[in-house]
Amino acid sequence: MPAFDFHTHNLTAPPGSAIVNLPDAWLLSPDTFRPVPGALYSAGIHPWTTATADSATLHAMTAGLARLIDRQWLTAVGECGLDMLRGGPLDVQETVFLRQALMARDAGLPVTIHCVRAHHHLLRLHAQVRPTKPWTVHGFRGKPALARQLLDAGIDLSFGPCHNAESYALTPPNRRHDETDSPQPQNAAEKASQHHG
Ligand SMILES: [Zn+2]
Repeated sequence: MPAFDFHTHNLTAPPGSAIVNLPDAWLLSPDTFRPVPGALYSAGIHPWTTATADSATLHAMTAGLARLIDRQWLTAVGECGLDMLRGGPLDVQETVFLRQALMARDAGLPVTIHCVRAHHHLLRLHAQVRPTKPWTVHGFRGKPALARQLLDAGIDLSFGPCHNAESYALTPPNRRHDETDSPQPQNAAEKASQHHG
């Protein structure tokens, strides 16, 4: 367990010990969310959601995200990004990701990124957005060459328990994070469904 967990889905993590990623379905009812004092949160539309949600739902989620940002309840936007294996059509994924990346930039928030087999698209979008706060690819398992390419472009990396040791070692400590990417505990998942009930 890292000293600070950069990315977890465990809603019951001790406040301040982790950045807790909210289920993206909650973006449809942002006003019912009650942050725990001292807890750090990230929220965003996961690329997998672009495979199932229609455009009206994605727009509603974007509006919900804007509301959480306005209320200053977020430490980071995400996880959002691109996934060539489990995401929706690439143009939809890019549109949804870009919208969130621009919202983060305008709010001065960093972005936590889920990226599967889409790193060249991510690099292109990073150059296009020119963020002022870090973009961090979470759960990075890539080889050293890819790690170097992302780092050279200004993108930071977060590593879970399963990672390439050489990539980890070459990442400067001030641009490297540790994460569990833990799932929600079952009781929290039940609460989450009541949240929308
Ligand atoms: Zn995650």
